[in-house]
Amino acid sequence: MHAAARQNRAPIRPNVPDGRGEKGQPLNEQTLSERLERVAAHVPAGARLADIGSDHGYLLVALMTRDLITAGVAGEVAVTPFQAAQRTVRENRLSERISVRRANGLAAIEPEDGITAISLCGMGGETIRDILDRDKARLSGKERLILQPNGGEQPLRQWLMDNGYRILAEELLRENRFDYEIIVAELGEPVRYTAHELYFGPLLLQARSEAFLAKWQRRLRLKQRTLSQLTEARQAVSEEKLHALKQQISWISELLT
Ligand code: SAM
Repeated sequence: MHAAARQNRAPIRPNVPDGRGEKGQPLNEQTLSERLERVAAHVPAGARLADIGSDHGYLLVALMTRDLITAGVAGEVAVTPFQAAQRTVRENRLSERISVRRANGLAAIEPEDGITAISLCGMGGETIRDILDRDKARLSGKERLILQPNGGEQPLRQWLMDNGYRILAEELLRENRFDYEIIVAELGEPVRYTAHELYFGPLLLQARSEAFLAKWQRRLRLKQRTLSQLTEARQAVSEEKLHALKQQISWISELLT
């Protein structure tokens, strides 16, 4: 990537679990990050929850310890986080109620699990989309999806719309200088979202919260800087990329006026 573009990108979110909260306290199965607390708030009481990409398993263990879910499946593709989830579940004496499975995406779920909610958090939106798309057949269609993409929200919303999901709730929060979006969806009456809604989030766009406007103000500054540096450097950028960047700048500017 060109240096100018790299310098002006939004900060890269850590691809590891957040080790400390906003106030510096250690995060674990008792003290979730604000991000995971907000995800937890969207899990229906009494759910049978599959947390795919569970890493340490904090979300499931916290919810089970608080008696908010009745069964859990932790799905992890990588060995170290899989073992971490096993340890968290074992140390909390929850092995009878939470199954920890080493599996790729939705392959962690079996029909007899009777899963009613699936969380996919802390991964890129495209990765979440690909996980859902690859094993659509494993979805009963009755599950609530609670998604917390790290970027790539637009293609994820596009997938939801194309596959008959309706967005029930959206949240935006800022923690440790990162903006996080949470998207909650269920299969429902077909709905068509506009290109703007897919980009900004239909419900976030409607609510226009302060956090939402502040996020897009920051994004606008970054994108404008990227555009001017690319133009000045006469960097070879595809017409398509340049057009997309200009269009985003124009949409965000309109949003903020
Ligand atoms: N969900 C936790 C959270 O939000 O704090 C952990 C996020 S961590 C950054 C992403 C986790 O997803 C990693 O542990 C990674 O191994 C796992 N992961 C990535 N792709 C996966 C896949 N296809 N199936 C299962 N787990 C996956």
